[in-house]
Amino acid sequence: MYNDDPHNTLYDALHRPLRDLRISVIDRCNFRCTYCMPETENNHYSFLKSQEWLSFAEIVRLTGLFVSLGVTKIRLTGGEPLLRPNLFELISSLRAIGSIKDLALTTNGSLLVQHARALREAGLNRVTVSLDTLDARTFHQMNGRKGSLQRVLEGIACCEELHFDSLKINVVLQRGVNDRQILDLVQYFKGRQAILRFIEYMDVGNCNHWDMRYVVKTREVIDLIHAHFPLRPLEAKALGEVAMRYAFEDGSGEIGFIASVTQPFCGTCTRARISTEGKLYTCLFASEGTDLRTPLREGLSDLELSRLIRRIWGQRTDRYSEQRSHLRSQPHLAPKVEMFQVGG
Ligand code: SF4
Repeated sequence: MYNDDPHNTLYDALHRPLRDLRISVIDRCNFRCTYCMPETENNHYSFLKSQEWLSFAEIVRLTGLFVSLGVTKIRLTGGEPLLRPNLFELISSLRAIGSIKDLALTTNGSLLVQHARALREAGLNRVTVSLDTLDARTFHQMNGRKGSLQRVLEGIACCEELHFDSLKINVVLQRGVNDRQILDLVQYFKGRQAILRFIEYMDVGNCNHWDMRYVVKTREVIDLIHAHFPLRPLEAKALGEVAMRYAFEDGSGEIGFIASVTQPFCGTCTRARISTEGKLYTCLFASEGTDLRTPLREGLSDLELSRLIRRIWGQRTDRYSEQRSHLRSQPHLAPKVEMFQVGG
């Protein structure tokens, strides 16, 4: 089932292959989602200047190196990646790197109507839209009173018309906020091209005041949906897939669940992340990243850069979600990288 090519695979210290690269192309966002960049913490955010961002040429060069080390899936993230000007140019350059199977984008959907066609024509094949509710009041409660729910729904409809290979809708559930809207969301997307995925609220970064009491456990969500729309489990499509896949018994499609808190999947985590300013992070909850931009700009050769990446990944032992409660009980936990700096 898993087509691992032993000749072109870089394993970490826990024998997990490097397969996925997530690239944050901008740390800014036009939303202020409570679980990522809450409005209340506005004064803590200092964003990078554009000259600090990796240039498109630098992103393409680094991506080529990661692909030569076994990466086949690239996901562009942010902040909000569609705020990065001319993103379609980067996508067509990345698409030219032959052995990239999946070229994906995670967006809040607010700018999709304007950009979806150009992204599709440039070679993007997967889109994931973060949409936590269909209720306008809750939408603004969860994203810091920004943007329009209707605009995001129109953006999703645009993507459906353009027939991306995959279109997913990520819903972060927070108890007491949007957990009573689960069945409405299922009803709305069931039978459509877009695949709904419910995500457990996570303690990403340092600003969202995470508390386990606000986590809606995936088991609860599956039981609730199954009681109304019978489900059956599906096999994972690939090693490192984060979502547990289920099919609707009535044949109207599938639905997914990402249970990073209650059913961690660190054991098969194949993801590396590059931040907007070019730091390599080996875990979403990491505190330290390795600067690749300086050696890149100081003229290191591809071979030397590959060796650096090999060394970092080879030493990787991250499994934060499996160790969460132990690590969170430590008196001095080092601040983590913010999700808007490395993408989800
Ligand atoms: S917590 Fe870190 S190691 Fe575990 S699945 Fe998430 S990114 Fe991977």
